[in-house]
Amino acid sequence: AQILILGGGGREHALAWRLAQSNLVNRIHVCPGNPGTAISPKTTNIDLPVIHPYTQLVQYAVDNQINLVVPGPEDPLVHGVEKCFRNVGIPVFGPTQLAARMEGSKAFSKQFMHRHAIPTAKFKTFSSSQLQDAIHYVQTCAHPVVLKASGLAGGKGVLIPSSTEEALQGLRSIMVENVFGAAGDEVVIEELLQGPEISVLAFSDGYTIVPLPAAQDHKRIGEGDTGLNTGGMGAYAPAPVATPDIMHRIMTETLRPTIDGMRKEGFPFVGLLFTGFMLTADGPKVLEYNVRFGDPETEALMMLLSENVDLAQVLLACAERHLDSVQITTRPGFSVSVILVSGGYPGTYDKGKRIEVGDVPSDVVVFHCGTSMNGNDLVTSGGRVMAVTCCAPTLEQALAQVYTAIDKISFEGKFYRRDIAHRALSAPTQ
Ligand code: ATP
Repeated sequence: AQILILGGGGREHALAWRLAQSNLVNRIHVCPGNPGTAISPKTTNIDLPVIHPYTQLVQYAVDNQINLVVPGPEDPLVHGVEKCFRNVGIPVFGPTQLAARMEGSKAFSKQFMHRHAIPTAKFKTFSSSQLQDAIHYVQTCAHPVVLKASGLAGGKGVLIPSSTEEALQGLRSIMVENVFGAAGDEVVIEELLQGPEISVLAFSDGYTIVPLPAAQDHKRIGEGDTGLNTGGMGAYAPAPVATPDIMHRIMTETLRPTIDGMRKEGFPFVGLLFTGFMLTADGPKVLEYNVRFGDPETEALMMLLSENVDLAQVLLACAERHLDSVQITTRPGFSVSVILVSGGYPGTYDKGKRIEVGDVPSDVVVFHCGTSMNGNDLVTSGGRVMAVTCCAPTLEQALAQVYTAIDKISFEGKFYRRDIAHRALSAPTQ
C-alpha cells in the first residue's frame, strides 16, 4: 500500500516510523514531514499546500495510487479533507467533517454528550450576543467554572478563573475583546472538575471501538506541573490510575455510547478518537474529544503496540469498516516520551540552533517535532524540538533509557522536564 500522512510533527514521524514496519506498506508519503521523516525507512517527504480544497494533494494522491490518507492535525479534518479524497475514491483514516465537529465545536460535543447521557462537567453554552446571560450565569451558578471558547483555539481556548471576578473578566476577554477570535463566538461555561487526567486514544470504524491503554500527558512547562501550558512536555502509558475497573467504565459509559450515538445520529466516527478524561470522585468524566492522534501520546503509544500489530492493517480496517477482524495488543511494559523544547518556550524562543545527536541507546527512538535542515546541519525550528521515546519492561527502565539518550542530544537552550511519569512512580503499586 501507498500511504499519505498529512502533517510534520513528532506525531506524524511516529506514525510513519510505525507504518514503515508493516509488510503491507510500500511507501509512506508525508506532507510536509520533517528531517526525521526524511530519513525514516520507506518514507518520502512532499511539499504541497495543505489548504482546502487540497487540489494538488488530491491530484498527487491519484497520481501516486495512494491507498489511504492519514491526516495528523485536526485542522484539515474540521475543514472537510475527508470528502476531498473520498470524492476520488481514496479512503481517509479520519472522520468526515460532520463527525469532526466533536472536536471543532465544544458546544456541539457537550450537547452530544448531554443527549447520550455521557458523563461530563455540567455546562451551558452562550453565543456572542448573550453576554448578559453569561454574566448572570457565572454570578449565580453554585460551583466554580471553567470558560471555553467553543471553536478550535490550538489548545489554548480554556480559561480556569480562580474567582468570580476573574471569571467575569475572562468572559469579557472571550466575548468582547475576542482574544480567541472566531473560536470564541460561542462560549461553553462548565463546572470545574477535580481529579487526575488521562487520555484514551481509541481506533474506530464507526461500529467497533478499540481503546489503547490510557496515557498521561504533562501540559505545563515546569516540573511538578507548574508554569505555563504547552503543547505537551511528555507522555507515558499505561497510566496506573486508569485501573481495569476505570477502563471498563470508560468503555461502557463513554466510548461505546459515543460511537453508537454518532452512528445513530448520522455521522459515524472513523479514525482515532482521543478522549480526555478527568477521574473525579464520581467516576471518569469527559473533558473533551479530539478526532485525531494526540501529540506526544502517539509517540509513546506507537512504541507500546506489540510487534505483531500491523498499524497499516489497523488503519485500513477502520477505513474499510472491518476493525472487528484485527487484534490490537500492546507490549507488557511502559512507554515514555519526553519532549525536548527550545529555551523560552512556550514564550518566545530562538530557532536555528544546531542540534547534535550522539549515540543514543538502541531501544530509544528520537522522533522529530520542530527541526529543519540548514545545509547539512540539523537545526531547531520550533518550540517542541524532539520526542525522545522508549518502551521497556518497567517504567524505571524506560525513563532511564530516555534520560540517557537526552544527555546525548545537545542544542543551545535545550530544556525538558525531568519528572515525566512522576505520578505513576509515586502511585501505590497494584
Ligand atoms: P487540548 O486540545 O490542548 O487538550 P483544549 O483547548 O481543547 O485543549 P480542553 O482539553 O477542553 O481544551 O481543556 C484544556 C485543559 O483544561 C484540560 O486538559 C484540563 O486540564 C482543563 N480543563 C478543561 N475542562 C475542565 C473542567 N471542567 N474542570 C477542570 N479542568 C478542566
